Amino acid sequence: MGAHGYAELARHVGHPLEFAVYGTDDAAPENLAIECLHCSEVVCDADRDPHQTDSQRCRYEQLLRHRGHRLECVSRPMTGTVAVICRACGRDLLAFDEGER
Ligand SMILES: [Zn+2]
Ligand SMILES: [Zn+2]
Repeated sequence: MGAHGYAELARHVGHPLEFAVYGTDDAAPENLAIECLHCSEVVCDADRDPHQTDSQRCRYEQLLRHRGHRLECVSRPMTGTVAVICRACGRDLLAFDEGER
């Protein structure tokens, strides 16, 4: 699920994103997701289960740190990347290079 390449993520540039938390355990929710409110799509998500595959770009611990923060999907034409960034921390949560599938 979610955006697994440049083109998929690029569709959400400029769209409002929301941090969604699923599960009953507030300290360690079962699932964390970044969702696009405009497209009603999951941009990226991660399960608490540590046995997730390595190919998954979104890491649970990483996402958890940004819970409640303002997220934004931006394109950087200079470097040919699209990224989901956290406005509060100034960090990339997810980034793809042009041509990356
Ligand atoms: Zn979107
Ligand atoms: Zn943050």
